[in-house]
Amino acid sequence: MALTFFNTLTRRKEVFKPLLPAAVSFYACGPTVYDEPHLGNLRTFVTSDLVRRTLERSGFSVRQVINITDVDDKTIAGARAAGETLLNFTARYETAFLDDLAALNIRRPAALPRATEFIGQMIVLIEKLLARGAAYATEDGIYFKIASFPGYGQFQTPDTEGDFALWKFYKPDDGEAVWDASFGRGRPGWHIECSAMIAAALGEQIDLHLGGTDLIFPHHENENAQSETLTGKPLARYWLHSAFVNIADQKMAKSLGNVVRLADLMTQEISPLAYRYFLLTVHYRTWLNFTWEALAAAAKAYARLQNFARDWAGASGTGKIIAKYQHAFNRALEDDLNLPQALATVWAMTKDNKEKRRDKLATLLDFDRVLGLDLAAAAKPTDIPEAVRQLAAEREIARQKQDWPRADALRQEIQKVGYKIKDTETGPLLETI
Ligand code: AMP
Ligand code: ZN
Repeated sequence: MALTFFNTLTRRKEVFKPLLPAAVSFYACGPTVYDEPHLGNLRTFVTSDLVRRTLERSGFSVRQVINITDVDDKTIAGARAAGETLLNFTARYETAFLDDLAALNIRRPAALPRATEFIGQMIVLIEKLLARGAAYATEDGIYFKIASFPGYGQFQTPDTEGDFALWKFYKPDDGEAVWDASFGRGRPGWHIECSAMIAAALGEQIDLHLGGTDLIFPHHENENAQSETLTGKPLARYWLHSAFVNIADQKMAKSLGNVVRLADLMTQEISPLAYRYFLLTVHYRTWLNFTWEALAAAAKAYARLQNFARDWAGASGTGKIIAKYQHAFNRALEDDLNLPQALATVWAMTKDNKEKRRDKLATLLDFDRVLGLDLAAAAKPTDIPEAVRQLAAEREIARQKQDWPRADALRQEIQKVGYKIKDTETGPLLETI
């Protein structure tokens, strides 16, 4: 089977064929850096990481670009309210975003262009659109003329949206967010930012374009209209959209005041990777309902996988990947990234007692190249002193003899030297305190 993706543009699953097999060009619309990312935003970037890892597993080499939207109404208003320069204000949230990517084991994209560093390219695109008669000036800015692009409305039948701003002329509220242009001082509209950064970082036409479902219309419709007007080619060949995270039957959004962030998980001692596991349990095109109970269940399942990895790592010898499970896992991924199905294969393997533990570990670590759950860390032997291991072994013997006072005394002795014992389904586990 070949790799397939559901293409929002054609509304069906299609076999993925890149323009140049040697390098898949892949752009995901990035964060607006006016606040720390919430779990909803982060879902989109985990999806984009899963797409990238799946492509790489299928043998493609990928150039992934995620932009940083550092100039728009929200960043300008935020910097003003904070009494900071736009640059200082947005830098803080860009760092927060990059930290969250790392915490979620999201591979660093090849490039993370900032909108403010591509204003010159945006101005050139707008000049060309004006020259072609696809754009016009009004009192407050330069607008794209939707009627000039016959392909408009491919994603969604346009309703009352009307023409959209390519450039907004300077208003005092914009502060220092102003650039000179042949058509008048001002700042770019959001849609032209992406068109310019895509062209600069990846070229005229790209293979894959990804974002949250809220970006389908008007953002992606508009990006495509601008770019295709200038190049004569659709901007992207496959458009992928990641569904929303809801909480209490509402979308998770800063404006609704219901956001949860990775930092909130960490204060509850829930690892960001438990959230990544949670995301894998729901197909990326299905909305995910966030509850703390569901997250706790995911954290428990994730801990079980870590325990299996630890347990299997105890077996001697190098393992071989078990072909039948690898095939099932790959088939699930190739079917538009069916990760819930892929996880079902993972669990089926854990329960298969006919396979050798070392082979199960090799297979699990192979799966983790896409899952990204850092299971190799769990499988690494920890540097626990021999004396402590000995105490733990004695305690286990005491437990089996149901000599509870001795087992307790040994547990305390182990704690005194800085270790704790966790009893797991695969046996006792030593951890540092
Ligand atoms: P923003 O920082 O608001 O520009 O959003 C960054 C990305 O997060 C975009 O691709 C949005 O579509 C996505 N996004 C925003 N809110 C949610 C949500 N509640 N669930 C999933 N994705 C979201
Ligand atoms: Zn975009």
